[in-house]
Amino acid sequence: MVIIMLGAPASGKGSVAEILSREFHIPAISSGDIFRKYISNGSEIGKRANEYMTQGMLVPDDLTVQLITSRLKEDDVKEGLILDGFPRTVNQAKVLDDMLVKEKKKIDIVINLETPEEEILERITTRRICSNSDCKTIYNTVLHPPKVEGICDKCGSPIYQRDDDKLEKAKKRLEVYYKETAPVVDYYKNTGVLYSTVLSQSINRMKDEVAKDVIEYLKNK
Ligand code: ADP
Ligand code: ZN
Repeated sequence: MVIIMLGAPASGKGSVAEILSREFHIPAISSGDIFRKYISNGSEIGKRANEYMTQGMLVPDDLTVQLITSRLKEDDVKEGLILDGFPRTVNQAKVLDDMLVKEKKKIDIVINLETPEEEILERITTRRICSNSDCKTIYNTVLHPPKVEGICDKCGSPIYQRDDDKLEKAKKRLEVYYKETAPVVDYYKNTGVLYSTVLSQSINRMKDEVAKDVIEYLKNK
């Protein structure tokens, strides 16, 4: 099974991907997490990616494609995978199509999370993440705070705010999203695999409700 997550920053891609990963026993692969891992290792690749990420810009396609290609060669994706954060440009979507053809895989669903713009900025700036790289649980200081302030419920590690989740950088990322990533939704429109769905606090439809609908849809497909 191949699942692609699309949606604005902090629209809930990672949270929905986590639920689907548990349900279907396939890994959720976050391009942002891959970059952050290279950054924390202090590698040259990480340094290059970080120059763009700290400015809220996209990492260039050549580097992004290189890292994703090598990740998709690992053993754990044989039975399927969930991509969260890739593709983020139409060019990346085309590259992914070629990669999947080579691997004899097909996209089962492209989940496009639609969240009202005003909710997005609020959600980015209130997002917090567990600092334990094996946990990475996502919190929100308003909607889903940890039981003890600053501490992960699951593993007890400190939680933190990503630098690019701060207001000015968040605004820039949103701008980039509308310009570069929104066209990817159109790219998938004629493929028959696009599943657009609202994830919004305003109608009380959050990650659990969305994931439940997706699971039912995939099981009946
Ligand atoms: P979010 O989904 O909240 O935007 P991510 O962790 O997916 O956060 O991405 C963080 C940053 O990593 C992006 O702002 C961008 O700089 C970089 N990035 C992640 N995925 C890609 C990609 N597919 N192409 C280019 N840059 C990417
Ligand atoms: Zn944790």
